[in-house]
Amino acid sequence: MARAKTGTVAIALGFAASLVTGAARAELAADSFTMTPLPEELLSKPITLSGACDGVVVREWREGGAGTEASPAAVRVMDRLCTHAVAVFDGFIERHGLERAHSLPFRWSVSVLPDEDCHRCLNDLTHRFSTRSAQIEVWGYASLNDRFIFILNQVLVSGRPGQLWQRVWVHELFHALSMHYGIFASHAETDAKRVKIDERFAKKFETAVLGK
Ligand SMILES: [Zn+2]
Repeated sequence: MARAKTGTVAIALGFAASLVTGAARAELAADSFTMTPLPEELLSKPITLSGACDGVVVREWREGGAGTEASPAAVRVMDRLCTHAVAVFDGFIERHGLERAHSLPFRWSVSVLPDEDCHRCLNDLTHRFSTRSAQIEVWGYASLNDRFIFILNQVLVSGRPGQLWQRVWVHELFHALSMHYGIFASHAETDAKRVKIDERFAKKFETAVLGK
């Protein structure tokens, strides 16, 4: 399943999630262009994380091969790492002179998806993700408009937390926290600059949380 993805870790960041409309697309089900989960894609029981991440809710989880299941072990990896990342976040932003614009509770949703280009998968650039800012293959993506993190489903590898998955999760959590607290918006005047700056911090944050 190893497949070259552009970039190194995770990578994309999105804001423009508005639905593209047009004659060419009108004949296709409008729903399939919706980035967030369709009603039939939602988990019947959403998974709410714990502690400092009790505002983070997994609403969709599409399984594939071994290690991609929404198993208790996988959810535990996600939950513990989220709590740890949020705990590290405070000191991290302070060290880097970043300031929160507010302290409202962090409430984001998560979709766990196959990192393939199949219909409605993480790299379905034809329909579901046709409007995301990064038109490249990614392992993870944070959308400010939707307050959603989309991430690959290979959480476990041979029964253990996958190195790649952990990096992508921490990386996307940084973008989400940064956008939530208005840190992202304060980086620079233009989105292009903000994305670049936030990307640098997200990579440093990976190291701060996971080590080298
Ligand atoms: Zn990134």
